[in-house]
Amino acid sequence: MSFDAEAKMQLLFALRSRGVTDSLVLEAMEKIDRGLFVKGYFTDRAYEDMPLPIPCGQTISQPSVVGLMTQALNVSNRDKVLEVGTGSGYQAAILSQLARRVYTVDRHRRLVVEARKVFDALDLSNITAFTADGSFGLQEQAPFDRILVTAAAEDPPGPLLAQLRIGGIMVLPVGQSDAVQHLIRVTRTEQGFDYDELRPVRFVPLVEGLAKES
Ligand code: SAH
Repeated sequence: MSFDAEAKMQLLFALRSRGVTDSLVLEAMEKIDRGLFVKGYFTDRAYEDMPLPIPCGQTISQPSVVGLMTQALNVSNRDKVLEVGTGSGYQAAILSQLARRVYTVDRHRRLVVEARKVFDALDLSNITAFTADGSFGLQEQAPFDRILVTAAAEDPPGPLLAQLRIGGIMVLPVGQSDAVQHLIRVTRTEQGFDYDELRPVRFVPLVEGLAKES
């Protein structure tokens, strides 16, 4: 077996042993090659279950965390999903395999431009990526069936709660940027919002405003 094939198989094994058990999520993660989203010095570590640096001082999340968040979001093929924090585009690509439509936004234009190239190369035509401050959501496309935030806020941003459809689910890390963060799941009901706490995590902070071009 080639080095790559063996490394990919080990990644799938690591995902299962860390609790990613949903077969559709595993299938999506088997299909989408993380190596395409990791560039430069770290490509040979793309199939390790580790977060890795990407441009603009950001990180591509650990694959098992991507799997667990995707699983917690419980996406169906009728869903319109918003992801806040495009980063490398890897999480959006996974979501594109499960959802009807994926909107993803990042405050760094460079990351959005790079991610679009990979989406095009893979022919992932149900993803639309925008440069925007995702803490305000994406009013023009709201409401969303599912929202996934991949940067940590102190509390769930109000506009995101407002743009979640009744019956919809949002998964996000909350907590102070360099202290303990928790992954939570928010479900919008007729009466309000239900919250459950999933696990401790560590994400880069959700920052307001667009990034200055570097
Ligand atoms: N989901 C990504 C990893 C995201 S890292 C992946 O699969 O690779 C978190 C990202 O959130 C960073 O790219 C950062 O620029 C972005 N971010 C932080 N605050 C933001 C905001 N207010 N609006 C949009 N994106 C934001």
